[in-house]
Amino acid sequence: MDLSKLTIAEARRALDAGEYSALELTNTYLDVIAKKDGEIHAYLEVWADSAREEAKAADAVIARGESKPLTGIPLAIKDNILIEGRIASAASKILENYRASYDATVVEKLKDHGAVFLGRTNMDEFALGASTENSAFGPTKNPHDTSRVPGGTSGGSAAAVAAGLALGALGSDTGGSIRQPSAFCGVVGLKPTYGAVSRFGLIAAASSLDQIGSIGKTVADARAIFDEIRGYDKNDSTSLTDASEQRTVNSKQRHSRTIGVPRTFLKEGTDPDVLERFQQTLDALKTAGYEIKDVELPNVPYSLAVYYIINPAEVSTNLARFDGIRYGLSVPADDIQSVYAKTRAQGFGPETRRRILVGTFVLSAGYADAYYRKARSVRELIRGDFVRAFDPSADGVDAIATPTSPTPAFKIGEKSSDPLAMYAADIFTVPVNLAGVPAISVPSGTVAREGKNLPVGFQIFAPHGGEEVLFSIGEDVEKSAS
Ligand code: GLN
Repeated sequence: MDLSKLTIAEARRALDAGEYSALELTNTYLDVIAKKDGEIHAYLEVWADSAREEAKAADAVIARGESKPLTGIPLAIKDNILIEGRIASAASKILENYRASYDATVVEKLKDHGAVFLGRTNMDEFALGASTENSAFGPTKNPHDTSRVPGGTSGGSAAAVAAGLALGALGSDTGGSIRQPSAFCGVVGLKPTYGAVSRFGLIAAASSLDQIGSIGKTVADARAIFDEIRGYDKNDSTSLTDASEQRTVNSKQRHSRTIGVPRTFLKEGTDPDVLERFQQTLDALKTAGYEIKDVELPNVPYSLAVYYIINPAEVSTNLARFDGIRYGLSVPADDIQSVYAKTRAQGFGPETRRRILVGTFVLSAGYADAYYRKARSVRELIRGDFVRAFDPSADGVDAIATPTSPTPAFKIGEKSSDPLAMYAADIFTVPVNLAGVPAISVPSGTVAREGKNLPVGFQIFAPHGGEEVLFSIGEDVEKSAS
């Protein structure tokens, strides 16, 4: 069984045809993890025993002919998604021994499907970063070149899928954390429409930006996972109701044939060979019958500046709950203020502390108008750019395309001492989180660096509820790359 090529679609067929059992499939994954994960470090913890039990239960369901799309499919789960009774640390010392007391809604749905949970994957602490180097438990390596980062913050999940250490994975995306590591590792990553997937049981980073999404080897696989985790959840007050979701989707069911390209925006620091790969994919889509035209997104170049105010503001608020009393680490001290201070000083890593400081500053009484409120206003302008670009009554486009990242995977250590260089890696991914629209990264060839071929991603944005548009164009990108 060649796990590096296996897809969920193929495994589903083979499991239902009885060619192998879910237990055999799971054992094969556990063997490969034991052999290869020492080097890659995609996992923070592997749950071999419970995975085997889940696989056996799945086999019983399959034998009764009652399998669902993900029954018996071995998946990896990012370490910020809660599974009852399991450690969920968000790759932070402060939650190193914290055990979840309930299942995230997405986990409940996957359990209901009889999916197999292989383990929890490495990430940047509290989903802050772009390389998985901010993990308190050491970096993950890119399977295509182990001297390079897998991207972040869902670097463990993307590397696991790319290296054949899981058939699919869950990640979370606040400003690119599913798409950018998927691009760096050569797999498909989906950031759903804000509200399409419940955030209940996701350890919050920046609540107005966070979304759980799927990672798979193919568009079909990313979609298969998304289809099972989506849907209204009364426990998430920002969850879209099925009815409102249905309405947006129906209004978008035109033939998606026009792709907009924000040309001027793309020039900002993009590697020439990444741009060339991007252009080749556009050319292939044109040959396949798409109309490619320029779009103006005049406020989108402000996305990074806006994101790096709103993200720290919300992060500083969300992380206030880690006080040494309610969750995880607690450092003893003489008085309560010292318990807070010592716990947070020992428990949080440098990037997390930086976000808390910046966030507290931009929200402070004297500066909130100049920074936080201004950023929120510009966020509305960015949202407006997308509404106009997609407006069918104004000759709008069906989708927008950019490279996922301006560069291929960079070296471990290359940007870790320069926060601004690390933030700049998010230039093409943060706009959609600010606007709440969905986006996907699909592999589109490679570029050569130091004798290695490194994957690059083609990113597609669609209007609210437009995941179908992403899947149909994404499959055409796959065809053009094969
Ligand atoms: N790189 C971005 C950040 O550091 C995005 C992270 C994410 O999507 N979780 O905030």
